Amino acid sequence: MTGNLIIISSPSGGGKGTLIKAVLKTLPKVGYSVSYTTRAMRGGETQGKDYFFVSPAEFETLIKQGEFLEYATVHDNFYGTSLNQVKKEIEAGHDIILEIDVQGAASVRTKIPEAVSVFILPPSFEVLAARLTARATEKKEELALRLKNSFGEVNRFSEFEYVVVNDAVEKATAHLQTIILAERLKRVRQSRVIQGILDSFDESKNQVNGE
Ligand code: 5GP
Repeated sequence: MTGNLIIISSPSGGGKGTLIKAVLKTLPKVGYSVSYTTRAMRGGETQGKDYFFVSPAEFETLIKQGEFLEYATVHDNFYGTSLNQVKKEIEAGHDIILEIDVQGAASVRTKIPEAVSVFILPPSFEVLAARLTARATEKKEELALRLKNSFGEVNRFSEFEYVVVNDAVEKATAHLQTIILAERLKRVRQSRVIQGILDSFDESKNQVNGE
């Protein structure tokens, strides 16, 4: 059985990174799509783990080579999802989480309508601003740009199937896990397993009926 593609979006500072890390630690058979980006590496980030950090020229080459399932300009930098990585995980029967912005989410939904999409909302603008400021990973102008962009981003929540309000990390993590598990249990996603069970009933039917 192939895995599910789980799109997760939120404004910067919405806490999606923390929630995704918690889910990856606790749920089996869930992978994470490591994106390519042209933004500068932050302290504490690792090449190939958080992102593949590339130059704008390298990013352009990757676009030409058809490496991306989707890509977009977000907060003045390029970000893109590797098509190969996604394919590999899905075909191995693993779910894969795509932590991408609202533009990327829209283009993945167009290409793969069965993708599951989740929007993480902070409990308020004040909390979002406080989290971003406390994180202190951006310069003043970058932080201002991210806050400014958050207005347009939260307004696109209705494009998503699920919304998780991240007011408490443990609760929001549990909600995200629940979504991923419930999606696995959908009848259409279990057709092979179900068919095997039904076959066993068919095989035993004659015996039980004494035929
Ligand atoms: P950050 O610079 O804070 O890591 O990410 C900034 C924004 O870019 C976030 O909204 C994040 O979800 C988004 N992003 C990360 N990777 C991708 C990607 O591959 N494609 C798109 N469209 N957005 C991405």
